[in-house]
Amino acid sequence: MVAARTASTRWLVRIIPLVLAGCAGLATYVVVKRVCLDYFLQIQPKNGVAAAFLALYFFFLLLMLLSYFRVFLEIQQNPGVTPLGERAVQQREQEKERKRLGRKGGSDLEAGERYEACADNNPDSPGLERFYSKDVFVCNTDGRPRWCSSCCTWKVDRAHHCSELERCVKKMDHYCPWVGGVVGETSFKFFIQFTSYTALYCIVVIVATVICLKSKLETGRGVDGLVIAALAISAFFGLFTFTMTATSIRYAIVNLTNVDYLKSENIVHQLAIRVPRGTQATPNYSVVTYPLPKSSTPDHEEDSPRDQLATRTFAIVKTEMGENPWDLGPYRNWKSIMGNNPIDWLLPIKPSPCAVFENNESFYEMGPLYQQLRRRFGLPELPKREEEEILELKQQQHENGTNST
Ligand SMILES: [Zn+2]
Repeated sequence: MVAARTASTRWLVRIIPLVLAGCAGLATYVVVKRVCLDYFLQIQPKNGVAAAFLALYFFFLLLMLLSYFRVFLEIQQNPGVTPLGERAVQQREQEKERKRLGRKGGSDLEAGERYEACADNNPDSPGLERFYSKDVFVCNTDGRPRWCSSCCTWKVDRAHHCSELERCVKKMDHYCPWVGGVVGETSFKFFIQFTSYTALYCIVVIVATVICLKSKLETGRGVDGLVIAALAISAFFGLFTFTMTATSIRYAIVNLTNVDYLKSENIVHQLAIRVPRGTQATPNYSVVTYPLPKSSTPDHEEDSPRDQLATRTFAIVKTEMGENPWDLGPYRNWKSIMGNNPIDWLLPIKPSPCAVFENNESFYEMGPLYQQLRRRFGLPELPKREEEEILELKQQQHENGTNST
C-alpha cells in the first residue's frame, strides 16, 4: 500500500467513505421509506410506481457499491506505481529515520523535494535493459529513457510522477480523494464504472424525489425537508459524477489520460525505435546502441561476437506536435481500458487489458503511428535473421543460466 504524502490527504481518504456512506444511507431512507412506502404505497397508492423505483434504486445502488469497493481496493492495493530506484529507497529510509528521531528537516509538504538525483550514468544501470529489450520506448535526446529524479529510476512509457504519492504511476490520470487515491492504469476502468453508476443512481433518486415533491405540492400536503435534502445531495453528486463520466469516457476513447490531455495539444513524443544492428545516424535521425558503451571495457571484451550479437541499435525520432503513438482508434482504445466485451464494460471485475499487456515490442500497444514513423524517417526494416539470432542467444543464456544453478 502506498499512502499519500500529506497528513491532510490521508485523513480525507479516511473521512470521505464515511461521508459517502452517510449520503447513501440518507438517500436509501428517503427513497424507500418516505417516497416509496409512505407516499407511493400508502397515500397514492401506486404499487407499480413504488416497485419500479425500488427495483431501479437497489439495482444502481448495488452496482455503485460494487464499483466503489473495486476502485477503492484497487487503488489501495494495486495503484500501478513503478518500483523505486535503490537511491530513492535509501533516501526515503533516512528520511523516515530522521522523522522518527524527531529531527524533521521541514514540513510534511517539502518531503520529496529534497531528492536531486540526476540520471544514473552507469551503462549497466538497473532497469535499463527492460527498455532496450523492447523495439520501441519513449526516450530523451540522448536515447536513454526518461528519468524520474524523485523515484531515482527510469520512467516507463506513459508513467507520470504523482507528487501526492511521491511515486511514478503508470498511465496516471488524476489524484482523486473521493475514491481513495490516484486513478491510473489499474483503476481507470473501475473509476469510469463507478462514476457512471453513481450518475445513474443519482438520476433515479432525483426523479423519485421530484415526482414525490411535485405531487405532494399539487395535493397540498406540504413539503418534506428530508426529501428536499436527498434531492439536493443527489443533484450535487449527480452533476459531479456525470461530468467526470463524460470526461473520462472521452479520454478512454482517444487513449489519453487526464495528465496527457492537459498537454496533448503541444506535446511531442521522442521515441527510440529499433533498427538493424549497426545502422548509422542520418540527417533525419540520430542513433543509440545498447548496452551503452563502457568507458573502461578492455578491447577483447568489446569485440566478443557474443556481445556484438547482444547489441541493439535504436533510431531516435520525434512525433509531430499532438500526435499520439498509442492511439489505436476509438473502439480499440476503449477496449484496451474497458475490456473486450460488453460484460467486461459493465461489471467491475476483470482488470483492463492495457494493465496486463505484455509484449516484447513495447510497454503499451502501439498505434498505426509507429509504422508511419518508421516510413516517415526512412528507418531500415529489421531483418528476420536478427530476430532469430537474438532468440537463439536468449535461449543460450537461459540454458547457461539453468546449467550454472
Ligand atoms: Zn517518480
